[in-house]
Amino acid sequence: MALACGREIRVSGIVQGVGFRPWVSRLAHEHGIVGRVLNDASGVTIEAFGSTRALDRFVGSLRKEPPSAAEIAALDWKPIEAPAPQGFEIAPSLGAEKRRLAIPPDIATCDQCLAEVFDPSNRRYRYAFTNCTNCGPRFTIVRDVPYDRPATSMAGFPMCPACRQEYTTVTDRRFHAQPNACPACGPSLRLVGAAGAETDCDDPVRAAAQVIAQGLIVAAKGLGGFHLVCDATSEAAVLRLRERKRREAKPLAVMVAGLPQAERIAILDEGTRRVLASPQHPIVLAPRRDGGELAQNVAPGNPLVGVMLAYAPLHHVLLAECARPLVMTSGNVSDEPIAYRNDEACARLGGIADAFLLHDRDIVTRCDDSVVRVVAGAPTVLRRSRGYVPRPVLLQRRFDKPVLACGAQLKNTFCLAVNDQAFLGPHIGDLDNLEAFASFEESIVLMERLLAVEPQVVAHDLHPDYLSTRYAKGRDGVVRIGVQHHHAHVASVMAEHDLKAPVLGVALDGAGYGTDGASWGGELLLAQYTGFERIATLRPLALAGGDVAIRQVWRIGVAAVMDAYDGAPPRDVLARFNDVPVQALEMVMTMVAKRFNSPLAHGAGRYFDAMAALALGITHARYEGEAAMLLEYAHDGNVTSRFSYRIDDVAKPWQIDLRPAFREAVEAVVGGCGPGELSSKFHNTLAHATAQVVRAAAERTGCRTVVLSGGCFQNDRLASALLARLSPNLDVHLPRNVPPGDGGIALGQAVVAAALSDAFGG
Ligand code: ZN
Ligand code: ZN
Ligand code: FE
Repeated sequence: MALACGREIRVSGIVQGVGFRPWVSRLAHEHGIVGRVLNDASGVTIEAFGSTRALDRFVGSLRKEPPSAAEIAALDWKPIEAPAPQGFEIAPSLGAEKRRLAIPPDIATCDQCLAEVFDPSNRRYRYAFTNCTNCGPRFTIVRDVPYDRPATSMAGFPMCPACRQEYTTVTDRRFHAQPNACPACGPSLRLVGAAGAETDCDDPVRAAAQVIAQGLIVAAKGLGGFHLVCDATSEAAVLRLRERKRREAKPLAVMVAGLPQAERIAILDEGTRRVLASPQHPIVLAPRRDGGELAQNVAPGNPLVGVMLAYAPLHHVLLAECARPLVMTSGNVSDEPIAYRNDEACARLGGIADAFLLHDRDIVTRCDDSVVRVVAGAPTVLRRSRGYVPRPVLLQRRFDKPVLACGAQLKNTFCLAVNDQAFLGPHIGDLDNLEAFASFEESIVLMERLLAVEPQVVAHDLHPDYLSTRYAKGRDGVVRIGVQHHHAHVASVMAEHDLKAPVLGVALDGAGYGTDGASWGGELLLAQYTGFERIATLRPLALAGGDVAIRQVWRIGVAAVMDAYDGAPPRDVLARFNDVPVQALEMVMTMVAKRFNSPLAHGAGRYFDAMAALALGITHARYEGEAAMLLEYAHDGNVTSRFSYRIDDVAKPWQIDLRPAFREAVEAVVGGCGPGELSSKFHNTLAHATAQVVRAAAERTGCRTVVLSGGCFQNDRLASALLARLSPNLDVHLPRNVPPGDGGIALGQAVVAAALSDAFGG
């Protein structure tokens, strides 16, 4: 057989499960190239044969315009000689190694599909399940591997001849699009009333839009679960939703058709526009536009609005029909997991929704909308779920033994790490109800199966009562490793940015179990992958009544003020707590004074609570982190001054003492100082004090690399102020692709456990 000269082209980066091979195949046909393309362990390999000119053009096109969800990290080629092949084929991926890489995330509807959906002459006009090789559902419909139609919830929809033709034609943009469908053969919609009766209508979307136009609520089945949908411009509709969902104040996400509509309700810059329109289409927190059309109670007292662009054809058709922004919030009651099955949604959301927009394509795995915010100048993923999962975090080190990290209790995600990839699971939420715990277990089983991984090492938090810890303790036949909460926060950022140990890790959050059994959360650690030294911490505050103080933040305000004045605060400031019944106030003061049922906590979040109580007069947090959030939003960018503080560097660990700050804050409050100034001075103080201990530690240890992590770094004001004080003298890293809060902790647990169990190879 004659040998032909060709090229072996290797492409690495995010090139699998994003329509890359079909795209390569189409390009090959355009350029008259023969050969084949296949997925391998490091990405995609192409064997291409043709004239030198054709090959040059082919390689040029490969570099130029990859599919929107792909990201080419490197593209190299070398000449090869081989028997001349016939045509161009997509070679099958075989073996666990290859399968592991082939589970794609869900991708927002592409422009070409969208154009078809709104083209009256197209056979997919207004079709809610339109997709192609470049877009559509993926992870949320996968039951098993390999990722092929029979292993998805599209298995029950045999393709009609027209769809099959597209699916099998190499040059078609639906070539190998597993969920390919049309009105003739694919899933369909129906509208069901609250009582469960099917609504007789020609067009369920139009009928749903009419329900919404009346100020009522529709539960709509989306990609990763149900949304509760209402008119975002109507105070009455939003109030109705809040009352029924028992969600008093927490901001609600809003969906709009596209960027022009987003600009009308939010102030966007180049960065936020790019994130909004990225293939992931997350919720982006952006400044709300004054005088925009949104109802005030969508995000009460909040200068930001969570906005996302429609990401499925169903959304586009519904938004076109409604012609206004829509509230699209998770279909659940309070903090339960999002509903994702038809029967379950109708049962659980029956008291909330007036109608259900259902379809018959099953959601296999629930996957909430992801959330992104610009923090200290760059987009930061605050909740990493739909669109990102199961895209791996690429690591520079290899895990020789697979590791499962079980995450924390709140905002739980887990992580499965194998080879040089860490797969973070979908956002599970707070593990404090059965429903959430079941979802946690199911997701782990599914991910282990999809990735063909059997963990040999299981990492968990040190907190004995976290359900994730208990789950880990129940796994037999594995090496179990407990990882300290803040060590995991810091290690997560070390892993994301591939940092060499040691680093100085600032971990500021609400609470995490310390190695001494106390509640930590204002920590400076000198961290290795294998361990850490606690260099500094915040002076702890008393939580009168324990966890109840985290909801009733006035209790923490009282404790901070009492601490600042050695137990005898000026009477004037106690007037700040006038909304609290006198007996309760006196009881809490006694509890704090006698340290009765008042555990001490080092969490930075508690200082935010205390200052919010003092500066804003907030007595209760209506959702987790509300007080801290409102304190951040109250800040006045023009105030650059700060309060006093003290560093006790004789204590071990060093202690950051904010009592002087609280005394000055109390005097300011009594003197009539406004919340803007108090908030700014508090942020400046915390940043200043933290920067001082970090610099002192850098001096002492010679370590110049700094990591900022923990839920407090969702706070742009704090992160920006601290970053400005540390760089450029120190090399500072923030979490970007992995959440700073407890949703990112599993990655840190995985790398620490790997380091401790010798699971890391060379
Ligand atoms: Zn498409
Ligand atoms: Zn069809
Ligand atoms: Fe935390």
